[in-house]
Amino acid sequence: MTQNFSDQQLKYWIENDDPWLLNEAQKLRRQWYGDQVYVRGLIEFSNYCKNDCYYCGIRCGNNMARRYRLTPQQIFDCCREGYELGFRTFVLQSGEDPFYDDDTLCRIVSGIKERHPDCAVTLSVGEKERKSYQAFFDAGADRYLLRHETADEAHYEKLHPVEMSYQNRMRCLRDLKEIGYQTGCGFMVGSPYQTVDTLWEDLQFIRRLKPQMVGIGPFIPQKDTPFGTETAGTMEMTLRLLSIIRLIHPHVLLPATTALGTIHPKGRELGILAGANVVMPNLSPVAVREKYKLYDNKICTGDEAAECRFCMQKRMESIGYQVAVNRGDFQP
Ligand code: SAH
Repeated sequence: MTQNFSDQQLKYWIENDDPWLLNEAQKLRRQWYGDQVYVRGLIEFSNYCKNDCYYCGIRCGNNMARRYRLTPQQIFDCCREGYELGFRTFVLQSGEDPFYDDDTLCRIVSGIKERHPDCAVTLSVGEKERKSYQAFFDAGADRYLLRHETADEAHYEKLHPVEMSYQNRMRCLRDLKEIGYQTGCGFMVGSPYQTVDTLWEDLQFIRRLKPQMVGIGPFIPQKDTPFGTETAGTMEMTLRLLSIIRLIHPHVLLPATTALGTIHPKGRELGILAGANVVMPNLSPVAVREKYKLYDNKICTGDEAAECRFCMQKRMESIGYQVAVNRGDFQP
């Protein structure tokens, strides 16, 4: 179900606070998901990346990044710990690291599903051929996150080197959806060269794709990247966009992201109150946390998984919401 609001209305909401918008988003969020907040255990298993996206701290051109990889066994250990803490979804995220070929990724996915058949596995490992996506799906992967970054081709080209293509990113999202993944797209708020028009295109794109998930968070500069001295996106605009997305696509799984928690101490709570219904505490081993640095000042890099889990629970309870111990699937 998507509702039709005029282009003018959407553009107004991108730039201006409207209490009606916030209220309506919160109402819809409660209507579909009650007071439940879904949690995902995020495992950042490699920060090697073959891409060179201008905004990203783990881009291959960043010689300052200290690189690491987790072994399949280390990933299984994170999942076991996460399971005990009540996580029923594991999100495996990494740079585009060819070290993990299709067979290895399939073994990791099926290994998790064998150990925890009641859990969902989400992959976020970038652009692949359709046959790879199919293989991961057949191995048991349930969901796939691939932010489109921007739905405006010219804008896309300003954020990425020539080797990367907008068309291929879109092809990937179509393939993922057709294969049957619960699919997530998304973008950064306040990325360099973003305008109200490109954001409006992002909203149109969401209306067309009808993804089960949308991940958005503020752009935050990472000092060793080409965008290291650009200004960060704002919390206010991120919150407004969360509300707009809830409004145009009411059932969507919408995280209050770590980046939102990074630019404001109560960012994630405010995100939930603006219409988000998912949080993704970090399950990566503390020894590597600091190294998965897409942007500067990332929060929670020193906390054990259990601390993150209970800190999140307290945060959600403080605003009248409950952390759900279930897979937290899309409700069609
Ligand atoms: N390589 C995978 C996943 C890792 S990057 C992929 O391409 O999908 C995950 C997301 O982090 C990116 O899609 C991007 O939107 C976001 N990100 C990267 N650099 C960022 C920055 N400097 N500030 C905020 N978000 C950033």
